[in-house]
Amino acid sequence: MVKFAELKKIAESVEIVDAHAHNIVAIDSTVPFLNCFSEAAGDALSDVPHTINFKRSLKEIAGIYGSSLSLHAVQESRQRLGLESSAAVCFKAAKISVLLIDDGIELDKKFDIKWHRNFVPTVGRILRVERVAEKILEKGSNGTWTLRSFMEIFTEDLKSYPLIILADEVFAFKSIVAYRSGLAINTEVTEKEAEEGLSDVLCAGHPIRISNKSFIDYIFLHALKVAQSYDLPMQIHTGFGDKDLDLRLANPLHLRNLLEDKRFMKSRLVLLHASYPFSREASYLASVYRQVYLDFGLAIPKLSFHGMVSSVKELLELAPMNKIMFSTDGIAFAETFYLGAKKAREVVFSVLRDACVDGDLSIPEAIAAVKDIFAENSKKFYKLDVSSSYSDVKPPLSSSFQEEELNELSKDVTFVRIIWIDASGQHRCRVVPQQRFYSSVQKHGVGLTCACMGMSSASDGPAVDTNLSASGETRIVPDLSTKCRLPWYCLTFRTV
Ligand SMILES: [Zn+2]
Repeated sequence: MVKFAELKKIAESVEIVDAHAHNIVAIDSTVPFLNCFSEAAGDALSDVPHTINFKRSLKEIAGIYGSSLSLHAVQESRQRLGLESSAAVCFKAAKISVLLIDDGIELDKKFDIKWHRNFVPTVGRILRVERVAEKILEKGSNGTWTLRSFMEIFTEDLKSYPLIILADEVFAFKSIVAYRSGLAINTEVTEKEAEEGLSDVLCAGHPIRISNKSFIDYIFLHALKVAQSYDLPMQIHTGFGDKDLDLRLANPLHLRNLLEDKRFMKSRLVLLHASYPFSREASYLASVYRQVYLDFGLAIPKLSFHGMVSSVKELLELAPMNKIMFSTDGIAFAETFYLGAKKAREVVFSVLRDACVDGDLSIPEAIAAVKDIFAENSKKFYKLDVSSSYSDVKPPLSSSFQEEELNELSKDVTFVRIIWIDASGQHRCRVVPQQRFYSSVQKHGVGLTCACMGMSSASDGPAVDTNLSASGETRIVPDLSTKCRLPWYCLTFRTV
């Protein structure tokens, strides 16, 4: 609707701060490409192509690469382009100006944080506290650790990170306590219990995996103290994830004891992933606890469109809008960053437009909310000094893929030609500008006079006895699975 044109334009074009994501991996990494679309692993991956997210996202990726609509064709396209060029296409389309990376996940052939600066001007680190602790224990000898000797090194390590500058600068801590023993953190855990917990962890052997509840609660509380003393936020995994997680224990309402604890009143906690499916609970917590903030990465883009819209709507039911932040939770593949950004732009627009229709917000208020949710809230919250724009970055492109091609791809195509066969067996076509194609035609089709469907080749009018005339309309909706780039019009035309 014209009324919301400016809101839509800003949602589609605003430069964004991606406040929670992970490393990209090399093109020959063993991480399955299907993980672009789902948190499933192992045997469960085989059903991923039947998810709504897979079907929708594959179309998006095929669209940006101009490839045919199949997993094989998409994978072939990214192989052909090469990692740098395909990542350049994705990040240019995503318009991310700041990226904060939690590099605490072990991924085969992952790139370091610095590498991501090829595509995003400002890149910082999120420090996963459990990984810091595990690395310390992995280095040391099993027999000699005491809680005291471990905590000394752990504290030293945590404190040393915020002092490091440039690509390794830490903007927040992150905890995956939800994955290990749940969010019901025992704020009264004793040193004795933690000491016993440490023994349990060490007895379990290598690789070290901290899952003992007493020990993990103890290091969480300690890390939170350090974060608070540096005024660094703590991101906390909440809600869904892979099956390593017991979802019952990932409900943020379990954080009650921590949120009520006077020692941590000045902390700043970010509940990640819209706490899905506990989005309403998260919204409530952000509305009554000053220290609670929200981030909806992962819920967008992994849910159905309805799921994404309803989850963000639920976050907005109670939470102050200055506490809600965007992230992609991109991981392993540049395409996940593109999908996260693209769907979030559509979803946030849809949610705020509805808020205007409902009379909750005025259009200027909705426009301000878009800017806040995508960038301004995070800039203030993580104290980001953003002077560069995503367009300042010149990505390293493979020799077979020049920058003009990248510009063409990111601008997408100039025209889209729609071809059909009419009722008299003749090929017909209509050409529309690409912008119109994506904004309307791909969903609503093109309108034709009824007579168009039965024009004979012998006369300039409908065939006799068809009863078709120049009045009325036939609507032809394109079959997007047939969309392809015309090989003889390299990079400028598509046909459906
Ligand atoms: Zn994440």
